[in-house]
Order: sequence, then structure tokens, then C-alpha cells
Amino acid sequence: MDFHHIACNYNHMGIVATLKLPEDSPNVVAWQRHLPDGGFLALLPLTQGFSSMVWSMNAKEAKRVASLSEDAFVDAINDALWKVQPRSGFVDQATQTFDNLIRFFNLPSTSMTQCPPKVLGCDIKSRAMFPLGIGHATNYVSKGVALVGDAAHRIHPLVGQGVNLGFGDVICLNKVLAEAVYAGSTLGNLQYLKNYETERQRFNVPMILVVHGLFQLYSTQFTPVVILRSLGLQATNALTPLKKFLMSQAAGLRPQQA
Ligand SMILES: Cc1cc2nc3c(=O)[nH]c(=O)nc-3n(C[C@H](O)[C@H](O)[C@H](O)COP(=O)(O)OP(=O)(O)OC[C@H]3O[C@@H](n4cnc5c(N)ncnc54)[C@H](O)[C@@H]3O)c2cc1C
Repeated sequence: MDFHHIACNYNHMGIVATLKLPEDSPNVVAWQRHLPDGGFLALLPLTQGFSSMVWSMNAKEAKRVASLSEDAFVDAINDALWKVQPRSGFVDQATQTFDNLIRFFNLPSTSMTQCPPKVLGCDIKSRAMFPLGIGHATNYVSKGVALVGDAAHRIHPLVGQGVNLGFGDVICLNKVLAEAVYAGSTLGNLQYLKNYETERQRFNVPMILVVHGLFQLYSTQFTPVVILRSLGLQATNALTPLKKFLMSQAAGLRPQQA
């Protein structure tokens, strides 16, 4: 089968595990902390007292962290979540000034401090490690064949969109195959499959580029870039319609009509 695939590895690994959290407060918030090495640690709520973790870091450090004992692993997670990282005075000054401006216009501010949960334990059997990279097939279809999900495209998990892209492929392919059958054509008709490829590549390629851009943006500690991304986050939080639009895009939904 003649499929062309472009791929690049980030030399980063993603460590996943199921974590035990305190049960005395509702577990309904997803957390994500960006770390100075360009990695991030995300906690995604499962049920009361349990969250799924994705922690990305450079490959060498990942091998060390993935071989820690259970207690040392939990300590390392809490350290990554809670440790006060060195801050740049310039960045603090810029974000404080911007926050004052946001408050002046009575817009939502990000200055309220929220604390992540304390991790109590880890199901060590759930710990696994995956290489992270970017990949895209230049063609998704061939006669009688269609690629969906990670077979067609792979992105960094930093925005948690990998599965949604795959779901979008399946919904679109289902629609295109129904159209083919309704028109009296065969399921493998390349003409119809090409419609699937075009529609999905128009959505997937910009998303892949945005996620790659975000990965690069968070991989540097160069002060002007840190200021720009911090102000960008504050502005996005302050502009509620923009924030709602981005959230709906991330959830694969259309923005709600007011
Ligand atoms: C560390 C990490 C964290 C992630 N976090 C998130 C997240 O928070 N949110 C999100 O949306 N996405 C996340 N993703 C991405 C998400 O996991 C993938 O996008 C998604 O799993 C892709 O689904 P898929 O069915 O296309 O492929 P896969 O999940 O890879 O499934 C393919 C299946 O096919 C099987 N298979 C392969 N070859 C053969 C063969 N020859 N014969 C039979 N079976 C075969 C494989 O064993 C596998 O079970 C993350 C990815 C990683 C690596």
C-alpha cells in the first residue's frame, strides 16, 4: 500500500500512571503544570480519589524517573507539581502590569492562586512510558483503504487532543461512506474516500502545526518568549468569548450560541 508518512521525534517521553489522590474533596478538575525543561505534568480526573497522569520529559530523565521505586516516584510527582520554580523578575513585572490592566477593565484575572492535589500513591503496575513525536501521513486513503487516528497523524499530548482527532476522522469517514452507499457507489470508491482525506487534512494539519508550535513555545526559557506566552494566557483567560471558542474547539464542539 502506497502511504507516505512524515515523522519527527521530540526526544521526549510521556510517562503515564494511575494516581491515588485524597478522597475528601471532589476530583473534577484537570491540572496541567508546564515545567522548566519543556515538559509538563497533567492530572486527568478518573473517579473520586483517582486521576490519570501524563508526565512528559526528556528521554534520559524519563528512563531514570520510570525506574524509581513507588515511594520515590510519588515524591518526584509531588515535587514536579508543587516545587516553586525559579522565576524571572521581568516576567513577574510584565504579568503583574498586564493583570492590573485586566482588572482595570473588570475582566477575569488569573492572579488567584489555585493549588493542585497532593498525590498519595500510585498503582505502579499502571506506569508506562511512550516516545513522543509528531507524525502525519501525506495521504490518508488508497483504493479500499482509509487511515484513521494515530495511523494517520500523531501529536504531542500537551493539549490532550490525540483521541479527539481520531474521533473526528471516524465521524467524517462514517459520513462519507454513508454518502457513497446512498449514491449507489461501493464503500472503497476512491472518489468518496478522497473527500474524507481532504476534509480531515484541512482540520488535522492546522491542529498538528498549532500543537507543534505550542511545544516549541513551552520548550524555551528565553525571557521575551516566556513573557509573550504568559501574557497570551492571561489575555485568553480575560477574553471570555475567545476562551469559550478555544474550549469548544478543543472539545470538538461548535461554540454555544449565547
Ligand atoms: C503518553 C501519551 C499521553 C496521551 N495523552 C492523551 C490525552 O490526554 N488525551 C488524548 O486525547 N490523547 C492522548 N494521547 C494520544 C492518544 O493516546 C492517541 O491519539 C490514541 O490512543 C490513538 O488511538 P488509535 O486507536 O488511533 O491508536 P492506538 O491507541 O495506538 O491503537 C492502535 C491499536 O492497534 C494495535 N495494533 C497495532 N498494530 C497491529 C497489528 N499489526 N495487528 C493488530 N493490532 C495492531 C495496537 O496494539 C493498538 O492497540 C496520548 C498519547 C501518549 C503517547
